[in-house]
Amino acid sequence: MLKTRPPLLYAACVGLVALVGSTAVAPTATAGPGLAETAVTARATAIPTPEQHFGFKMGAEGKLAGYPDVLRYMKLVAERSDRVDYETIGRTTMGNEYATVLISAPKNLRRLDRLVEINQKLSDPRNTSPEQARRLAEEGVPFYHLEATIHSSEVGNGQAINDIVHRLATEDSDFTRNVLNNSVIVLVPSQNPDGQHLIIDHFNKTAGTNYRRTYPDLYQKYTGHDDNRDWTMFTQIEAQYRLALEKKYRPAIVHIMHQKGNTGSRIFVPPYGGITSENVPANMSSSVSAIGQHAARSLAAAGKTGVGSLDYHIFWTLEQPVGFFPFTGSGVYLTEIASVTDYAYPQVSSDGRPLGPQQARMSLIEPYRSNTWTLADIVDYAKIATYAGMEYTADNGRELLYDNLYAVPHEYMTKGVPAGSYAFVVDADQRDPYATFEMLQRLEWTQVEIERATSEFVADGKRYGAGSYVIKMRQPRGNWAHQVLGTDKYPEVRDCTECPVLLPYAEATTSLPLQLGVDVAEIRAPFQASLERVTSVKLPQVTMPPAPGDRGAYLVRPESYGTIQIVSALQDANIPTFRAAKGFSAPGGSYPAGTYVVPATPQARNVLATASAKVGLQVTAVARAPRVAGVQLKPQTRVGLFRGIGNMPGGWDMWQFDQYGVNYDVVAAQDFQRKSLNELYDTIVLSHGISKDDIVEGLDPKEYAEEYSWAYGVGDKGWRKLQQFVRNGGTLLAIGSSVATVQELLNLPIKPALPDDEDQFVTGGSLLHQEFDPDNPVAWGMPESWPVWLYDTQAWELTGAGGTVVSNYPAEGEVLASGYLRGAEHIRGAVNTASFTVGKGQAVTYGSEITFRTLPRAQFNLLYNAIYHGPAAEVDATGLQQLRTRFGSDGALAAR
Ligand SMILES: [Zn+2]
Repeated sequence: MLKTRPPLLYAACVGLVALVGSTAVAPTATAGPGLAETAVTARATAIPTPEQHFGFKMGAEGKLAGYPDVLRYMKLVAERSDRVDYETIGRTTMGNEYATVLISAPKNLRRLDRLVEINQKLSDPRNTSPEQARRLAEEGVPFYHLEATIHSSEVGNGQAINDIVHRLATEDSDFTRNVLNNSVIVLVPSQNPDGQHLIIDHFNKTAGTNYRRTYPDLYQKYTGHDDNRDWTMFTQIEAQYRLALEKKYRPAIVHIMHQKGNTGSRIFVPPYGGITSENVPANMSSSVSAIGQHAARSLAAAGKTGVGSLDYHIFWTLEQPVGFFPFTGSGVYLTEIASVTDYAYPQVSSDGRPLGPQQARMSLIEPYRSNTWTLADIVDYAKIATYAGMEYTADNGRELLYDNLYAVPHEYMTKGVPAGSYAFVVDADQRDPYATFEMLQRLEWTQVEIERATSEFVADGKRYGAGSYVIKMRQPRGNWAHQVLGTDKYPEVRDCTECPVLLPYAEATTSLPLQLGVDVAEIRAPFQASLERVTSVKLPQVTMPPAPGDRGAYLVRPESYGTIQIVSALQDANIPTFRAAKGFSAPGGSYPAGTYVVPATPQARNVLATASAKVGLQVTAVARAPRVAGVQLKPQTRVGLFRGIGNMPGGWDMWQFDQYGVNYDVVAAQDFQRKSLNELYDTIVLSHGISKDDIVEGLDPKEYAEEYSWAYGVGDKGWRKLQQFVRNGGTLLAIGSSVATVQELLNLPIKPALPDDEDQFVTGGSLLHQEFDPDNPVAWGMPESWPVWLYDTQAWELTGAGGTVVSNYPAEGEVLASGYLRGAEHIRGAVNTASFTVGKGQAVTYGSEITFRTLPRAQFNLLYNAIYHGPAAEVDATGLQQLRTRFGSDGALAAR
């Protein structure tokens, strides 16, 4: 049946969605007595098959059911079946519908409230004893969360679910009776509806044209394929929906359907390969291995070959590709099916030989012997693997409910974490209160219990003030808290002495404190403190100081990345904004280089009051602006983002600019038709991943229509215009691999410091120590040292004069802060951030991925400092004290 529901509540900005309201199901006339006795045949005729509804069989060559039509089908089935409920959860980033389909026996759907309550009680061992839990596991049924597609180009699974829903809604068999009576299916037809639209609409639009059928850009507005790498920060609304569903239904099994490349096995099912982290619950791992092998057996029984396992080394930093689920005991059952050509056309091997590896081994018991693989094969394999997963879940409900949902959090609550830590302590006195807020908020969203000290205490020999936070490990979410708060030491693993190092599937670490810039201590020995439970994480309360009078100024310290939003608000309101180039003291304290100085007008006061409250940063006031040299930011600095089509880092950068209110445009090929890029932009940022080829050659107009023309190549002429942009006074910033592009563009005096050979140097995505020069404008507000994120880019050496080092890896001592590092000697002392004067302009290079998935926020100011500093005007000490503006009303620099 179709249901309406109270709207989802979510706070503005990066707030988190909460599913609210009960799951009450209105009784309906069609609700029959029991499944066995209902008139199955009558219902079957009333519900069209997918073929009748869509006009073709699921998996038909070259045919893809579009997402809106899939939802229409699901709604239709829900209207006509008492085994199916359809629910709209909310709208996506691009305004599409995000929905769930609940499938179970009518008697279960009628008592859904109670079943959800049982799952909630089981996963709350604080209030449920083992005896109660056993009774609840007897009474309840496990929920099977089926996520059909998150990677929208992996289209086959989204077709298969139509057949799956039809079968469960209409068939009367031992199989359906078992699944419906003994489990509840929570189907998410797409975890990324926007991508479903973008991919399939493009596919259908290009039918019969000479254009390529594959969609060229990111299929989630900001994250693209990285949409399943958002499970620690939950930046995207779709990730927030998933977390809300997960917290509400507490699925025993989460089946995440993917497709993979087309050279390996035809389908991957667990067990997974690689090493595992001690934070991952053992019960969860073993139940997932069991479900995977149940699927392998079902596939074999159906004559399907090429079934692989012992792959996908995701159990280290499992929180990145999979998320929060498995840490709470939900089994994560991943299936990865080989893809075909252009989404929907057969893949035929070019040499006529069978596809995939041909040697039988324990990880691939029966190789695939055909040279052809089709969309219909994907649909078949997906259905069999899903039915097997559902069957296993229905057959093992009591065990999954007790051993996983209950026993996993119960064990952490009673025994603590394997690492033996007692607690993490977050000092009340932090450089960046906004970062602290963002970190604690993520813990709160993932149900970590946080306590706050009501008075001073001592832990591990250090005194902490009242208001410091304590996160004890002996709690139901202890392992998750340990995973995201702790540091990682990825071990060096090889399958044989000559084999290459086994790298983690995703990254080697995710430490939130290091990424965000929060000082956190892991304490091993128990300590005494008077604590109260934090029921709601809040931003620090800030109040505007009294207005300091006409000659006074407001000051904002530069350490927090929250200042980015304050600067955006000042820019937006066209309020003169100065920065002190040196530290100074003023009544009430001393301020570091980079402190923002704003004339104390009523208008500035209003803007600062709102903006500072949004990030919890205190504004102070002085009766006279400091007498110190500095700069005035250019009013309404124009920022260009060269993000690259289909380039995920560029998408994340775009999200960040949107979140922070930056005045920017995506740089388009059309911009290069101007006489000069300086007409449009003051600063251009090249996201990580932009090569010379992306700029000069770009997207091929023969392959992609006019609507993608912004990403067409700009040729050598455009390349020279970008050079000219800097020489004319523009600021060009390059992140990660784009540093090599800018090095080539401007012939910068730098060269790569790291060897190409992974056996000599590799990090696998880690946090490495870094030293900053906080007197350099690019590093204003940065601490003298803090880790930076380095994945697979480069560190640099200066080769001549003309460059200034802003930050570098330490020449001595420990380099690795968290994760993995092989070949530390190659990176010692190497340059990460450097600035260069080029003609009248400036270039700044960031060798590492300083904006990686918007995670390493502690480094963000390096980027934003430079965005505004390049176009800023120098102001002498007298000028700054008098807050004399250097820009005319037209935004142009006025003569001194
Ligand atoms: Zn995928």
